[in-house]
Amino acid sequence: MAEEKSLNFLEEIIEADIKSGKHTEIATRFPPEPNGYLHLGHAKSICLNFGLALKYGGKTNLRFDDTNPVTEETEYVESIKGDVQWLGFTWAQELYASDYFAQLYEFAVTLIQKGLAYVDDSTSEQMAAQKGTPTQPGTNSPYRNRSVQENLTLFADMKAGKYADGTKVLRAKIDMAHTNMLMRDPVIYRIKHAHHHRTGDTWCIYPMYDFAHGQSDSIEKITHSICTLEFVPHRELYDWCIENLAIYPSRQYEFARLNMTYTLMSKRKLLQLVTEKHVSGWDDPRMPTLSGVRRRGYTPEAIRDFCDRIGVAKRDNLIDISLLEFCVREHLNKISARRMVVFDPLKVTITNFPEGKTEILTSENLPDNHSDLREMPFGREIYIEREDFMEVPVKKYFRLSPGQMVRLKSAYIIKCDEFIKDAAGNIIELKCSYIPESRSGSDSSGINVKGVIHWVSADKAVPVEVRQYDRLFTVEDLSTVEDDFRNHLNPNSLQVVPAVFAEPEIVNAKAGQHFQFLRMGYFCLDRDSTSGKLIFNRTTTLRDMWAKEVKK
Ligand code: ATP
Ligand code: MG
Repeated sequence: MAEEKSLNFLEEIIEADIKSGKHTEIATRFPPEPNGYLHLGHAKSICLNFGLALKYGGKTNLRFDDTNPVTEETEYVESIKGDVQWLGFTWAQELYASDYFAQLYEFAVTLIQKGLAYVDDSTSEQMAAQKGTPTQPGTNSPYRNRSVQENLTLFADMKAGKYADGTKVLRAKIDMAHTNMLMRDPVIYRIKHAHHHRTGDTWCIYPMYDFAHGQSDSIEKITHSICTLEFVPHRELYDWCIENLAIYPSRQYEFARLNMTYTLMSKRKLLQLVTEKHVSGWDDPRMPTLSGVRRRGYTPEAIRDFCDRIGVAKRDNLIDISLLEFCVREHLNKISARRMVVFDPLKVTITNFPEGKTEILTSENLPDNHSDLREMPFGREIYIEREDFMEVPVKKYFRLSPGQMVRLKSAYIIKCDEFIKDAAGNIIELKCSYIPESRSGSDSSGINVKGVIHWVSADKAVPVEVRQYDRLFTVEDLSTVEDDFRNHLNPNSLQVVPAVFAEPEIVNAKAGQHFQFLRMGYFCLDRDSTSGKLIFNRTTTLRDMWAKEVKK
């Protein structure tokens, strides 16, 4: 039975709107600015917007908030679309705020005609001085009382390119003594002679966020415009524009942005990590970007589960990154193909196994799928993990030690008869004997052993590279650091193991496939792989290594 979950505050609002008959269908939008790659914070917003429309019957638009020509690029548009699709959502319409430039211009003209907007020649310093402070009212600009006709002419000339950047702006005429600083005659249009990724050089004036976002929502008849808490003070202006333009009354609702421990979610800072080469790119598997976690092997199911579990908060909070890792393990445990890979090999010779013979054993590819089997060669020489042998075993050590038995996973029980050391005293080889009647699946030996270890055939194993990742930062809450965030990068966030020894089936690994390397963690093929050299990313360890640290 599905667990009954209480409604989050947005669901409550929507249910009330449906019940009162205010809406029969809802419309939401996801409005990324195409100035970087999407991160896990955006995933939260995507799951929320698309999730609400799916739950209540309605649609979600993907709207690129591309009103700033300087920072936006088509590369980002493509990556954003790919990321939303990868997360598993389908948008109703793909739209661009820039498609509304002509309409937004008309809206501005309407405000001028109503005496609610004026062209201001003040410099940005002068305007800042006019603003006042939260405790002191501002002062009116000397240009505030220009006539409607003069404003219409000047605004048309701004559009026609008669003026240089920064020499004039269009401001809403509201109240320079308003308690909300954003309502003190905010700038709604500015001059920027810049090439736009879609509109090219058609425009040299661009609307500000506050004059584009609400109107775009309204044009699309968005019922619930969901954004993050920093937009709370903007809501008044959002409503002011809609009311004074007498257009469709979209409504803005705010929730707390997702912040996570040991990472940060700001496109600007992530861009810095990329351009300064602290990471290999936007899709570096240590990055909290969706392209990064995808390359690392996180699944959309796990991310959606995570977004669901954290819920929707009205206050800023910090989510433990281990919760995301938990969701990833939960899903990968169900879908990952099992493989045996020895990281730190110790050679074992099975002295009673015929020389030159290879026996083909089978084991399940996927957990609990007895019909999906893979073949594994077994022979006289195998590798086991060095740490699966102890010359002098500690208490409760159930793996190999002199005279002790262990089961080789999906193979036989072996007994350690002898160990060989080099001149320096390092153990270099074990001599073991195997119990022929103990083969997994047809064990008639009657012997019970407590330990099961993984192994690979020494001559058939395939060396592959693994890349093991750790947290990108060493600080739990990056919002508390006072110095530069780059001082807190974890120098050990990437550990490359150039060669580990995998069972031969590994050569058939496909991009996008997930593996559990038994006892070692979850892995996926990295795109840097070549046919001669396979490279695997460690998606996550099997358990929370950090939680273990704490308990010790
Ligand atoms: P950044 O600060 O990383 O640049 P942004 O908010 O400027 O983020 P946008 O492209 O404007 O990025 O965001 C698109 C949508 O995603 C917005 O509705 C925004 O509120 C939401 N969003 C961005 N970051 C988060 C976050 N950390 N948690 C939840 N939602 C977020
Ligand atoms: Mg933004």
